Amino acid sequence: MGYWLCATIGAGASGQLILALDKSNLMSDTANNEVIVDRFGRRFDNLRVSLTAACNYACTYCVPNGKRLQAAAYELSAQEMIRAVTLLQQTTGISKVRITGGEPLLSPKFGDFLQGVMGLGLNDVALTTNGQLLPRWSDAIIASGMGRINISLDTLDADKFRDIARSGDLATVLNGIDRMLEGGLRVKVNMVPMRRVNESQIVPMLEYCRERDIELRFIELMNMGHLRSSNTYQQQFFSMDEILELISEHCTFSRTDAPFDSTAVRFEIVGGGYFGVIANESEPFCRTCTRLRLSSNGHLYGCLSNAKSHDIRPLLEQSDERAQSAMREVLGQALRDKQDLSFKGETTVMKFIGG
Ligand code: SAM
Repeated sequence: MGYWLCATIGAGASGQLILALDKSNLMSDTANNEVIVDRFGRRFDNLRVSLTAACNYACTYCVPNGKRLQAAAYELSAQEMIRAVTLLQQTTGISKVRITGGEPLLSPKFGDFLQGVMGLGLNDVALTTNGQLLPRWSDAIIASGMGRINISLDTLDADKFRDIARSGDLATVLNGIDRMLEGGLRVKVNMVPMRRVNESQIVPMLEYCRERDIELRFIELMNMGHLRSSNTYQQQFFSMDEILELISEHCTFSRTDAPFDSTAVRFEIVGGGYFGVIANESEPFCRTCTRLRLSSNGHLYGCLSNAKSHDIRPLLEQSDERAQSAMREVLGQALRDKQDLSFKGETTVMKFIGG
């Protein structure tokens, strides 16, 4: 028995009473108020949609040789992606969607997908972008009513920026951040600190973010893609403890609460401001992970640390009833793909499956 079907009694994601039934007790009444959970109580609530695998950067930690990757062959259309999100809403109660990639703003589908997904009545739709194409898309993003955006930025030093991203322009990203703030979006900045690469930028980045009321998220370098088979990972990995030690020389902070399924350890700075650390290695969050990923070519991934994927393109054309039933089966398998406790690393490149 791999998964459980839960009949939820009462509305709302939090505080709901969950009645667990094993798979043999699958009811014919498969109404919307059912969710699939595993033996650790994990369920899928949080969907990351990779609009395209293509990226306009070639970050050193993401691709090995500086060559930007192209879009995956046979990408789903915006309509197919909306159909997939709708089915996931119906079958597992997905309530949060993050649009990511590759670089989502590079995809010609972005405008149509944004419009479609904002109309689905989800609790939260957000975007992760490197910000390079915000001049093109800012107005549409602000007009869509999206509430928050994460912008990836590893340094405030223009030369280091080029060394890491191997493309792009720092000033464009900084202007894009200002534009998003002016447009009323809540902005978080994602930074990957790396030893002898950009660790000296940790405090300047924190100050830059504090001044703008932005929450900075430090992402511990993940053992993925080409890093998995190189010494670079060991050499460059900069742990949460090291990050905190550096910051403690600059300001005082204390650990604070984060939502149950948050991937970040969160800190409040005395005198104002917050920051977080996504501590994949130091404090793995697999036990409470509610994430599911849809790749641009129509595969579902239950775990970032497992290359196993499930092709859902064929079921998108089926009738609602057949598609929902097939989707439940796939979701049960995808839940089994999750790691039990820690992030083990994977050779899959993050941009393929949606960072
Ligand atoms: N292009 C978009 C962007 O740059 O935000 C979205 C995709 S990118 C893969 C999403 C996030 O994954 C970025 O913040 C990036 O820094 C992070 N990332 C990629 N590879 C990583 C790795 N090996 N370790 C830690 N973070 C990584």
